[in-house]
Amino acid sequence: MDMTDNILADIRENMRHAKRGAFYCKYFADIDPDDIKNDDDFQKLPFTEKEDLRGAYPLGLAAVPEEKIVRVHSSSGTTGTPVIIPYTKRDVEDWAVMFKRCYETAGVTKHDKIHITPGYGLWTAGIGFQAGAELLGAMAIPMGPGNTDKQISIMTDLKSTVLCATSSYALLLAEKITQREIKDRIHLKKALIGSERWGDKMRRRIADELGVRLYDIYGLTEIYGPGIGISCDHECGMHMWTDYMYCEIIDPKSGRRVKPGDAGELVITTLHKEGAPLIRYRTHDLTREMPGECPCGLPYPRIDTLIGRSDDMVKVKGAIIYPSRVDEFLASVDGVSSEYQIMIDHLNGKDMVTLFFETDVAIDERENLAHTVKDSFKTTIGITVIAKAVGMGDLPRSEKKSTRIFDNRY
Ligand code: ZN
Repeated sequence: MDMTDNILADIRENMRHAKRGAFYCKYFADIDPDDIKNDDDFQKLPFTEKEDLRGAYPLGLAAVPEEKIVRVHSSSGTTGTPVIIPYTKRDVEDWAVMFKRCYETAGVTKHDKIHITPGYGLWTAGIGFQAGAELLGAMAIPMGPGNTDKQISIMTDLKSTVLCATSSYALLLAEKITQREIKDRIHLKKALIGSERWGDKMRRRIADELGVRLYDIYGLTEIYGPGIGISCDHECGMHMWTDYMYCEIIDPKSGRRVKPGDAGELVITTLHKEGAPLIRYRTHDLTREMPGECPCGLPYPRIDTLIGRSDDMVKVKGAIIYPSRVDEFLASVDGVSSEYQIMIDHLNGKDMVTLFFETDVAIDERENLAHTVKDSFKTTIGITVIAKAVGMGDLPRSEKKSTRIFDNRY
């Protein structure tokens, strides 16, 4: 996103501050913040990865003396050492200000009753939803996750008007409410859903069954938490609060910035964070910058709904295959199931991509269907594949979608 002299000045100040902490003191040992005079200099700075932060456990990320830390959160790692993020009083306040702005963008007011189901505690950030609600002056209902029966009785008795949840939990609640035929006792008008990749089908079901308007809320523990961006009524991406952070979209493989509007990985630099400032932090979330201005008039740039994780994408023949786009593509072809496998091989100096898909059409019609799939894959994804139809249930089922793409080239 646009780099200005003011942002550069904030970045230099942020870097000077970050170097007071043990982590960046070492990581940026050879880097002088005063040398960052323009965007090109900035783009030469190394990225910060979550793996790097693990080495700072427990409090090596703190750029302030411990007595200035008022709270810590921790981001969950799949394995190994967690990452502890320290917050100062100002960080906690700034986060609440950003979250209040999220609620306001979604049209939530102090007259609303906000039903908060994300977890509270070290690992999660229900408290962010809560602090923003309180700053707004709305009634926060700090449910936390689980105990669906209690959720529904509190929701009907207190007449909750706003639901904060993950997409999967919102869907679960929606299903229960539909099953019990109690939709007329539900007063929800809006739902703020923690942004992850979720399909349109799921989105429509939640909106219809709960009778709500949905907003995507973005965030990650390393950068405050949820609430650093949200979609507005125009549903054309999430506004990012760029007065608190500088956002870049990079090619995850080369590390270079992509052209405006192209998809890539979101990289965030905090501008005012005191406890644990981060410079060029790789989120591994894939998105793109939305072009132009939003009809809502907010002056904050937008990123698109998340496409997936950069750890899941594969580059082949100059194009990128995102699992989410293959999901969407297959959903648009009649007679094809959602299960697939992609094999990428390097043969005779060329990359070859084979797409196995499941179908229930008769065996003698499969070749025709494979032709259709091949042609539409080329049109939609931009890559020529060898399409091979197999019967329903022939492909192995796996819990991790990322294992559907097998890159055998290296
Ligand atoms: Zn907008």
